[in-house]
Amino acid sequence: MDASSISPASQVHTLYPPARAFFTYQCPHSDCGGEFDLADIIRIAVSDETHEARGSLLCTGARPGEKGSKRACELRLVYAISAHLGGR
Ligand SMILES: [Zn+2]
Repeated sequence: MDASSISPASQVHTLYPPARAFFTYQCPHSDCGGEFDLADIIRIAVSDETHEARGSLLCTGARPGEKGSKRACELRLVYAISAHLGGR
């Protein structure tokens, strides 16, 4: 079985205000250099009156393919963001 076909486990990240600068996540495939940048999506979720955003992103990184070639990773990150704002 091709180990690379196994989907990485779902990850849940809970973000607190002091961590606001860290909205970039490494692709979970260790042989891929891709990243997911959620900063814009989170900004939209925070400014939207529902404070929620859902959708998906494709990894734009490349992973080693056959015979030293590279192939697009295209791992799909499905996100569901719910912003909880402090009552001040
Ligand atoms: Zn990737």
